[in-house]
Amino acid sequence: MVEEKYDVIIVGGGIAGSTAALFLAKKGFKVAVVERVNRNNLGWKPCGDAIGEHYFEELGLEPPRGEELEYIVSGIDIYSPTEKHVIRVKGKGYMVNTPAFVKRIMSTAISHGATLLDETIVLAPIIEDGYVVGVKARGKNGQLELRAKTVIEASGNAAVVRRKLPKDWPVAEEADPTEFNIAYREIRITEQEVRDPEYIRIYINQTIAPGGYWWLFPKGERKINVGLGVMGGAGYPSPKEIFYRYLANREDVKGEIIHAAGAPVPTRRPINSLVWNGIAVIGDAGYTVNPIHGGGKGSSMLAAYCVAEAFEKAYERNDFSAKSLWPANKCYIEKYGAKQASLDILRLFLQRMSNDEFEFIISKKLVSGDDLYTISSEARVTSRIVLRILRALVAGISRPGLLAKLKKVSDYMEEIRKYYMSYPETPEGLDGWLSGLREIYSRFNREVLG
Ligand SMILES: Cc1cc2nc3c(=O)[nH]c(=O)nc-3n(C[C@H](O)[C@H](O)[C@H](O)COP(=O)(O)OP(=O)(O)OC[C@H]3O[C@@H](n4cnc5c(N)ncnc54)[C@H](O)[C@@H]3O)c2cc1C
Repeated sequence: MVEEKYDVIIVGGGIAGSTAALFLAKKGFKVAVVERVNRNNLGWKPCGDAIGEHYFEELGLEPPRGEELEYIVSGIDIYSPTEKHVIRVKGKGYMVNTPAFVKRIMSTAISHGATLLDETIVLAPIIEDGYVVGVKARGKNGQLELRAKTVIEASGNAAVVRRKLPKDWPVAEEADPTEFNIAYREIRITEQEVRDPEYIRIYINQTIAPGGYWWLFPKGERKINVGLGVMGGAGYPSPKEIFYRYLANREDVKGEIIHAAGAPVPTRRPINSLVWNGIAVIGDAGYTVNPIHGGGKGSSMLAAYCVAEAFEKAYERNDFSAKSLWPANKCYIEKYGAKQASLDILRLFLQRMSNDEFEFIISKKLVSGDDLYTISSEARVTSRIVLRILRALVAGISRPGLLAKLKKVSDYMEEIRKYYMSYPETPEGLDGWLSGLREIYSRFNREVLG
């Protein structure tokens, strides 16, 4: 048994873990990333490969470049179920070659002093006196015990550390199966030239992607990332089966398969707490994903940033308790979590809407591209949208029930966003705050979904 000591051990070298390693190594900490795959195979977890430009600006990270960058896009086209109506949402983003992108972040972290222990599987956390103090792992040369002041859980859906924490720690919260989208995607070289390649495409269709959507993201003139996500825990067929039933042979999809794989994505509000004694969770393991579009790369980078900042302050105090690491929660909620929770309310409503209702909203232009940009960047249903809905109600444009519900959803989104902004300052306040949160969700369920 080899025993080693670090400031921080990061479990998993995906986008969340490698970004955390980069931030921490730049601050001069002794960091080890423990990753089960070989270093040459980092980043192969299936993804739509789209990421907004603004994350790089906000975090001061170098945007994708060279072989990492496959295409620069100018926005998103959102299609109604009949595909006759489209809303264009403008906003610059990148289509990345995810493995190359993750490898570059990891190699930059290594150049700042981080250690990558690849082909090493983390088996369980080591917990002593109520603190996570390290992990047990199996590496190339046998069993390891790695010890650190704090462990960052970034093993994605495996959540190998989080699942083995005491169940009464808020950082160990288990999501409900319905709070995941089960996604499948293929990267293809298409027979046809990709139409309008500077806009990624999202198709809303509850038959093809119940409780989710299907997408076609251009990666070049003849290269696409195409896939779909369906709501988990609801008994729907597998997304791969649906893909081959409805999408694989579309004229704009037909072509040679370069890579095919699927995975679940958490699409819900933030975890109850990102931190506890000696532990932080980020990325898919910590549900830091956008509940509406399932994008998790940018937000996992934000969570990595917040945890690294909180660790630095905790290190100065030589105190790695939940209380000392707590500012990570406040940071993440301010940067993203409050918006994530607000979008979770919208997600719960949208997942229950019918194709007819989506067609109605998009065809009547009840929301514009600018509105959707505001909803997705600020999680706020602006007064402009509410006004439009109210006007439509007054003008007697059919479906008053749906329009009235939309107004209620926008009120709840605002309520939950504000509630998250009152997230407790210390762990002691969490239980009371969580019971308030449960009350809002159950009222929303009763009044809007019920
Ligand atoms: C089909 C699909 C499409 C998506 N599209 C997009 C998109 O277009 N844009 C976007 O932003 N997001 C998208 N997402 C979400 C995004 O991919 C994830 O949110 C993001 O990759 C999460 O990164 P992560 O680092 O938390 O987890 P992961 O990328 O899963 O990384 C976890 C790492 O931990 C390692 N690991 C696991 N278990 C162990 C263990 N026991 N010991 C050691 N290491 C371990 C794994 O090998 C892996 O390297 C999509 C997801 C799916 C499934």
